[in-house]
Amino acid sequence: MNTFQLILLVLAVSFCGKLLSHIHDNAAPNFEDFISCLESNSNNVSSISQVIFTPTNSSFLPIWEVAVNNQRFIKSSTPKRSLIVTPINDAQIRVTLLCSKKHGYEMRIRSGGHDFEGVSSTADVPFVMLDLTRMRPVDVNVAKKTAWIYGGAMLGEVYYAISQKTNAFYFPAGICSTVGVGGYLGGGGYGNLMRKFGLAADNVVDVRFMDVNDNILNRKSMGEDLFWVIRGGGAGSFGIVLAWKLRLVPVPELVTIFLTNMMLEQGATKIFHKYQYVVPTIDENLSIRVQMSSEKIPNTNKKTVRILFYGLYLGAVDTLLSLLHEKYPELNVTWEICQEVTMIQSSLFFAGYPTDTSREVFANRSSVIKLNGQNKLDYARNL
Ligand SMILES: Cc1cc2nc3c(=O)[nH]c(=O)nc-3n(C[C@H](O)[C@H](O)[C@H](O)COP(=O)(O)OP(=O)(O)OC[C@H]3O[C@@H](n4cnc5c(N)ncnc54)[C@H](O)[C@@H]3O)c2cc1C
Repeated sequence: MNTFQLILLVLAVSFCGKLLSHIHDNAAPNFEDFISCLESNSNNVSSISQVIFTPTNSSFLPIWEVAVNNQRFIKSSTPKRSLIVTPINDAQIRVTLLCSKKHGYEMRIRSGGHDFEGVSSTADVPFVMLDLTRMRPVDVNVAKKTAWIYGGAMLGEVYYAISQKTNAFYFPAGICSTVGVGGYLGGGGYGNLMRKFGLAADNVVDVRFMDVNDNILNRKSMGEDLFWVIRGGGAGSFGIVLAWKLRLVPVPELVTIFLTNMMLEQGATKIFHKYQYVVPTIDENLSIRVQMSSEKIPNTNKKTVRILFYGLYLGAVDTLLSLLHEKYPELNVTWEICQEVTMIQSSLFFAGYPTDTSREVFANRSSVIKLNGQNKLDYARNL
């Protein structure tokens, strides 16, 4: 072997070494240190071992995938070098936090799994996923107009639980029933009742929250600054929301919904232009959401735009029609396209179900439809 060949060999070995260490980096760690920490710090070893799932466990992938809402992240190439813990109580959350810190694993908290960038279920480094899907009771107190909801509940489960007890109160939250309350309220949360009642986070009145030093805090003990920031600033940057206390808002027993749609060719541009001036000042009992999509014009190579106007009015059809007749006649909303329904039926409608669908569908987590796309939102600040 001459000197040149020797240099090549050394380079090849060091390259392979790097490659092997890269492959090793990407392999799942066995988390033995973490698991023994969990077991030695738990009062009940058999109970904690039932909520730990390593990549070698046959349940790991199904549990990991079930709450990943976006198919973009369900690929064999998606980094999931994680261990999953599905706690059933605060003590199990506390010991998971303690052992993650002790052994240097990052933690990902997952509620509904709808994060647009998949941050609750993926990471480039080995991590521990705290999956809260087994902590989702919703306790509604109609007399006090409040509800305690655990951090892993979905919005649909909140709507369902309220509707089981009353049609006269509701919670002003989002359109997609499968979004989790952990990420939704931690991000502020907008929805159909926002014009009248503000963001969902404005209607959170208390919290049970575990900080990084595993102290359990409520609104009083954490102070107003932290309470403010975890309702909009991303709660997971500050700790773990164990439960939120919500204020329920009064709604009529029957509300009115409608959906109308029009194409560019039908003058949709003008009607949408007016929308921007009418809707911010119209009666706050009315919200109209607009959705635009492009579509092909049949038998041509051209495209056009369809605009959908989804309406929710906290009142009866006749009052809505006279309001729209006065302020926004161009929308051409008629009796025929309106329906008077309960709030839970309106949530079914906005979630894409027929209004006569059983509300149980909101209590069924396996009915979650997976998306495949990317969303980006912005707000108009000036007209
Ligand atoms: C189909 C779809 C429809 C949507 N509709 C609306 C809508 O109508 N209105 C609206 O405002 N938003 C809407 N969103 C956005 C949604 O509110 C956010 O993506 C939200 O973060 C998702 O929360 P999640 O719990 O489901 O997601 P996850 O992926 O579980 O969590 C999102 C983030 O919150 C953190 N987190 C979750 N639980 C906790 C907890 N208990 N404590 C601390 N941190 C936690 C996670 O670590 C992650 O960083 C929608 C999103 C999708 C995909």
